[in-house]
Amino acid sequence: SYVGIYSTTFRDFLLKPELIRATADCGFEHPSDVQQTCIPQALIGGDIICQAKSGSGKTAIFVLSTLQQIEPVDGECSVLVLCHTRELAFQIRNEYNRFSKYMPEVRTSVFYGGTKVTEDIATLRSPETHPHIVVGTPGRLNGLVRDKHLRLGSVRMFVLDECDKMLEGVEMRRDIQDIFRATPRQKQVMMFSATLSEEILPICRKFLQNPTEHLVEDHVELALDGVRQFHLFLPEEKKIRKLVDILDQLDINQVMVFVKSRGRSEQLSKVLEKFNFPTCFIHGDMKQDERDAVYKKFKKGDTLRVCVATDIFGRGVDFERINLAINYDMPKDVATYQHRVGRAGRFGTNGAGISFLSTEEDKESFKAVEEYFKKTFPEYPEEGLKLKD
Ligand code: ADP
Ligand code: MG
Repeated sequence: SYVGIYSTTFRDFLLKPELIRATADCGFEHPSDVQQTCIPQALIGGDIICQAKSGSGKTAIFVLSTLQQIEPVDGECSVLVLCHTRELAFQIRNEYNRFSKYMPEVRTSVFYGGTKVTEDIATLRSPETHPHIVVGTPGRLNGLVRDKHLRLGSVRMFVLDECDKMLEGVEMRRDIQDIFRATPRQKQVMMFSATLSEEILPICRKFLQNPTEHLVEDHVELALDGVRQFHLFLPEEKKIRKLVDILDQLDINQVMVFVKSRGRSEQLSKVLEKFNFPTCFIHGDMKQDERDAVYKKFKKGDTLRVCVATDIFGRGVDFERINLAINYDMPKDVATYQHRVGRAGRFGTNGAGISFLSTEEDKESFKAVEEYFKKTFPEYPEEGLKLKD
C-alpha cells in the first residue's frame, strides 16, 4: 500500500482549516509516504523534484502546497502548472477546484489547445475572472504569453507535472523554456514524475535552484505491488479474439486497452462495441470537444467499461475504477510500460496488467521491463484471474 505509517494525518501538516476540511471531504485521511515526505518540503517554498510511483498521490503535493502558500491578488497569476496533455490539465484544474472548495477567493483556470482561444483571452481580460492559478499545456500557454494575454510577472510557484515527458521533446521543451523565461527568477519550482531517467535529470535540474531531490534509486521500489502483471505470446491476428475472451472472463470495473496508433484505437473500439462491450476510444486526431466528452464519460465510470487509447491516456490521468490495463500493443520503452500499467491500481488498489507480445521486438521490450523491475511477470493463466477480493 502507499500509506506506510498510519499515525500521521493531513492535520499534521498544519494546513489552513479550509484545506484540512477539503482533504476530509475528498476522503483523504492518511498521507501516502511520498506526501508525508514532500508536502512539508513543498510548504517551505523551496524547489523540489519528486519521483514516486504511479498513483501515489503526487498531485496533492503541489495542489495543497500551492493553495496553502497562495496570496491571491486579483488580475495576477501566482501559480502556474504545466502538464503534457489537455485531459491531464483538465483533471488537475478539477483537483484545484476540489481542494479550494473552501477558498472562494481563489480562482483557477485551465487553458489548452483545440479550444477557442478567444474564450481564454476573455477570461484573462477581466479582473473578475482572471485566474490566480493557471493550469495548462505548453503550446496554448506559450501562445497566450507571447500575445501578452497572460502575464507571468507575478508567478511565485511554477509546477511541471510529468516533467520528464514534458522536457523530452524539443518542441514542448522550447515552449516551456519560453514560458519559464517570462516568470520572475525568484519563485518556487516543483517537478513530478514516476519516471526520471539519468538522461532527463540534468535537463530538469536546469530549471531548479538548490532543489530537494526526492528520487527513487532502486527501480524495484517503483513496481506496483497491487498490480499483478502478465504476458501472453500470440500472433497479431489472434489479438482481438484473445482480448474479447479476457474481457468476458475477468471481473472488470473499467479497463484501459493501449494501442500504438490512432487508427488502431478507433478500429479496435468499433470491434469491441460489436461484441457488446461499452467501449470508447481516444487519440490525438480527434476534435477536442470529442476528447473532452470521452474523458468525462469514462471518468464518470457508470456507462463505459472499456477505453481503447493511444498514449494520450498513458500517464497522469486518474480513473479510480480501472482495475485492468492491457498492452494490446507492447510499448517499446520501460517508462511507457510503467505509466500505462500504473493506470490500474490507483492509490494502492488492486489490479492487473497484461501485455500482448507478438513480435521479437515485443518480447525484447517485455524482457527489458522484467529486468528493470527485477521481477518475472508470468504468462497469463488460461483460467483467468481473480481481479476483485
Ligand atoms: P500520481 O500523480 O502519483 O500518479 P494522483 O495524484 O493522480 O497520483 O493520485 C492517485 C489517486 O489517489 C487519486 O484518485 C487521488 O485522489 C488519490 N489520493 C491521493 N492521495 C490520497 C490520500 N492521501 N488518501 C486517499 N486518496 C488519495
Ligand atoms: Mg500524476
